[in-house]
Amino acid sequence: MTLRNGEIADLFDLLGDLYELDGAVVYRVLAYRRAAKRFRETAESVWTLSEQGRLTELDDIGDTIATKVGELRETGTMAALEKLRGRVPESLVEIVRLPGLGAKTARRLWQELGITTLAELELAAREGRLQGQAGFGERKEQQLLAQLEAGAAPRKRVFRLDQALELARTVLEPLRAHPACERADEAGSLRRRAESVGDVDVIAAATDGPALTAWLIEQPFVAEVLGHGTTKASILTHNGVQLDLRVVPLASYGNLLQHFTGSKGHNVRMREDAQRRGMSISEWGIEDTESGEVFRTPDEDEVYRHLGYQPIPPELREDNGELELARANELPELVEPADIRGDLHLHSDWSGDGKHSLLDVVEAVRARGHSYMAITDHSGGVGMGIGLEPDDVRRQIEAVHRVRETLDGFELLAGCEVDIMGDGSLYLPDDVMAELDWVVASLHVAQRQGADRITKRLIAAAEHPSVDVIGHPSGRLIGKRDGYDFDVEALVEACADHGTFLEINSQPHRLDLRPAHARLALAAGVKLVISTDAHRLSALDYQELGVFMARRAGATRDDIVNARPLAELAALRKPGRVAQAATRASISKS
Ligand SMILES: [Zn+2]
Ligand SMILES: [Zn+2]
Repeated sequence: MTLRNGEIADLFDLLGDLYELDGAVVYRVLAYRRAAKRFRETAESVWTLSEQGRLTELDDIGDTIATKVGELRETGTMAALEKLRGRVPESLVEIVRLPGLGAKTARRLWQELGITTLAELELAAREGRLQGQAGFGERKEQQLLAQLEAGAAPRKRVFRLDQALELARTVLEPLRAHPACERADEAGSLRRRAESVGDVDVIAAATDGPALTAWLIEQPFVAEVLGHGTTKASILTHNGVQLDLRVVPLASYGNLLQHFTGSKGHNVRMREDAQRRGMSISEWGIEDTESGEVFRTPDEDEVYRHLGYQPIPPELREDNGELELARANELPELVEPADIRGDLHLHSDWSGDGKHSLLDVVEAVRARGHSYMAITDHSGGVGMGIGLEPDDVRRQIEAVHRVRETLDGFELLAGCEVDIMGDGSLYLPDDVMAELDWVVASLHVAQRQGADRITKRLIAAAEHPSVDVIGHPSGRLIGKRDGYDFDVEALVEACADHGTFLEINSQPHRLDLRPAHARLALAAGVKLVISTDAHRLSALDYQELGVFMARRAGATRDDIVNARPLAELAALRKPGRVAQAATRASISKS
């Protein structure tokens, strides 16, 4: 028996959930969940790493976890898991994993009402038996029922863009170097840089197709071969992503790449448009209906040109009016990863959740080729026992000034990620914020308030004279929660009126603003900031993900605040902020 990474991860998640239901200390539960996450994201086989005694080479995996995986290999289970299964009904886990319910509530439902399954919970809610019990009011009971009816069972797993990109890179690099390979590209939603993908599509042209499909199924990341022929192979990786490789003729490579990139909506509209112009499109070529001549090309751009369009970047192919723009030669010139010059949302070890010192962060950001950055550790109010109090903020500003003196040709801004509190106020006093060079206002607490209150809080932050940008505005976590309910149009309007920027947060589980909302912001003239929000140095790599979201929204370099030199930023900022900066400069000179 060999378990796949996803299966091992599921067991560790189960272990964490059962421990939590049993009332174990938090750090232990977190350690199991972190391990599960790490296993799921590891491309190599965790089973094999364990056999080779190399498991602790992975981040977040210590001896305790490694020993447990060893136990799993030898006995088929873990003693701790079996012991917990004897104490806590396993079906409670389904209840814990419902959005909005935690271990505490699930435990009370079990101990006070004897509820251990989803079906029992639904019945009890339907009969109104939860009200006044186990921390349930009438409203919460109704919410739960609505969720259950909407099928709010634990969600299907999604693969994030960063994971899909990494897999595609792992495959494409050696594939392109293969002697039989003429061309190879990713296709599908990954090539369009969708925030999450169902599977990864790769297409290739080859002098010897069967050699490529045979090569693929032999690769170390393959956990299971789902299908294998001379022109197509489908495999499952150890972290549970399905990858399909199709080998196609070089002569039609451009047509097929265009076809398999999609989106469906884009392709349908393009076909209809072509028909009106006497052409018929298939994946293999474009036929002139009158002459019967078929146009085939290895070059995808030529497909668009033949049809009378500008070549359309894959990120825009979502049937959002891009064909009309391309017809009129009016496609926006999209921002590129290389256009980004600074990073304006970064954490250090000052606020307790960042992993690295201020100096290390500065060095790393600088090494990326950026010319400026803002350090924006959390203010208090964010919970979790972290965050800076006003005095800490002042001390950090001084520390920033000291570091700044040692820097040549790189600008360091003193900033803060200030929490938007439940009542719509900001955690830091106004005079402290006025001392900061850069203020990100973000909402982390009281996310379950109704849409009205959340919207009011965000708008109040956007209207504040010291706030430069609203961080991760929707609060969504990809694959976990959709984000709080709020009126995005009202927020965009407030930002437009007050000169506040909106952030595209590049963390792969956030990518927030999402492209549809970023589009609204751009249409209203609101500028965007693409930030990494890195808490560890490796997360600086994520900036390109934010750029991809901006591209999906149709953003140009001009639309992105941090695609400009710092000196040009002042012209975009709130007049109040510029005045504050002038005061700060005169104070520091005197
Ligand atoms: Zn945040
Ligand atoms: Zn942050």
